[in-house]
Amino acid sequence: MKIINNAAVIFNYTIKDETGTMLESNANEKVGYIHGSGTTLPGFESALEGKDAGYTTTIVLSPEHAFGDHDESLIIHVPISDFHGQELSLDMEFVMEDGQADEANSIVWRITELTEETVTLDGNHPYAGKTLTFDIEVKEVRVASEEELEHGHIHFDDFDNLSEH
Ligand SMILES: [Zn+2]
Repeated sequence: MKIINNAAVIFNYTIKDETGTMLESNANEKVGYIHGSGTTLPGFESALEGKDAGYTTTIVLSPEHAFGDHDESLIIHVPISDFHGQELSLDMEFVMEDGQADEANSIVWRITELTEETVTLDGNHPYAGKTLTFDIEVKEVRVASEEELEHGHIHFDDFDNLSEH
């Protein structure tokens, strides 16, 4: 079937940055989304609309259509004493609410620098400020189940994704 609203779309992907460096791929993991659910990046759904299993395409998304510009105000320096002796390492992540009791507003802070006195935290998405090239291969298109539509995501099998339900 073709990709239309409420179709379950299973695909393979790789993401590269401007220099062609591979940032990410789904490797052996199955990934997919429900077409029309708005859960993917803008531009993604329109590129796949009406396509079929086997379709391959390359989508280039500027920061504004991907993860936004890099925001300097989201880089903060915190005295290491604020962490009360907690063991810290580079790239460690902390999820903090930004005051609103809403998960969508929580920020993931990543440690980008660590000295004896100061911890530098970056609240930008790791891909912020990057133009991203997605290579996509549509593996499977099928009708989404009622349960999948209700959840807004795909179920691959009963054991793999239980935690997401
Ligand atoms: Zn579910």
